[in-house]
Amino acid sequence: MRATTFHGAGDIRVEDVPDSQILAPTDAIVRVTKAGICGSDLHFLHYGEALGMTPGLRLGHEFVGVVEEVGPEVTGIAVGDRVVAPFAFSDNSCPCCSLGVQTSCTSGGIFGSPFWGESAGGIVEGGQAEALRVPQAGGTLVVIPEALAAAEHDTKVLPLGDVLSTGYHAAVNAGVGAGTTAVVIGDGAVGLSGVISAKLLGAERIIHVGHHADRLELGKAAGATHSVNGKDEDVVATVLELTDGLGADGAVETISSNGTIEQAITVTRPGGNVGIVGMSHFFEEAAGQPYAIAFMKNVSLHPGVCPSRDYIPGLLADLEAGKMDPSIVFTHDLALDDAPEGYRIMDERVDGSIKVALTPGA
Ligand SMILES: [Zn+2]
Repeated sequence: MRATTFHGAGDIRVEDVPDSQILAPTDAIVRVTKAGICGSDLHFLHYGEALGMTPGLRLGHEFVGVVEEVGPEVTGIAVGDRVVAPFAFSDNSCPCCSLGVQTSCTSGGIFGSPFWGESAGGIVEGGQAEALRVPQAGGTLVVIPEALAAAEHDTKVLPLGDVLSTGYHAAVNAGVGAGTTAVVIGDGAVGLSGVISAKLLGAERIIHVGHHADRLELGKAAGATHSVNGKDEDVVATVLELTDGLGADGAVETISSNGTIEQAITVTRPGGNVGIVGMSHFFEEAAGQPYAIAFMKNVSLHPGVCPSRDYIPGLLADLEAGKMDPSIVFTHDLALDDAPEGYRIMDERVDGSIKVALTPGA
């Protein structure tokens, strides 16, 4: 079978690999019908070795597909089911999973990465492949409802496993709800997902902050009531002006550099909330000043990796009800064998690219 593999910084390949096999009784094999390349995959592309990636590691943590085989202890999932997976597998039954923090599952890990692989025998396959082994399949996979269970809906369902649920998590953590004013910082795929999510959660006003006119237009189509282009406008002054000098109720922060976190706190009203889901802070020295600003305004900061498994069922219901179209994040859909080109397109932002989907067998 074919799979996308890591071979060192800047060296991504699609190659023949041994077929995926059931190794534990709680495993399933999923035949992938659509996969995504995530912004965090670009961190692997550049810093893979430093992050513990080893040559030959199969990449990808966003996928939808059809269950091909299940181990004897898998419950709730059957051969032939069309399923969506969160980017992290989990048993969905341990104390952390029961609390809705499946990303801290004691039997969990992240697909297509070296993170927490011990619980799955040290080998965690990736979704940018024709198929993969899914550990803890019964707790991880979610069956796609009949109305959405077809290849034509794959690009709508695929974002629920990571990018859309991550935007949603930030909006929830930012306290976005009915009648609130939300600021969404970032116009990448997660930022656009933040706009979609703020609308789903009932925000009255959604102020979308970015640097690309074309992406901000997509944000408007997805529900943003105001756009602020940081290239042309002073973001803080504009948002404060739009909010009578007080600031927004919540900020959905999808970049999370020291600079954007400070910006998010500054445009949030006293007593408001900032949901932080970007990963830029992993690659920067921590700065103390944002906490001082948050302290003086009693703004709550809530950074957190998204427990996507917790949100997928609700988001599937919203999708089935026609309340959103998260497929707007995809600007390219390539054959699986073109994955290296897909990484390049996203990394170099070729042709206004935002996010790339991959289709095995295309
Ligand atoms: Zn668990």
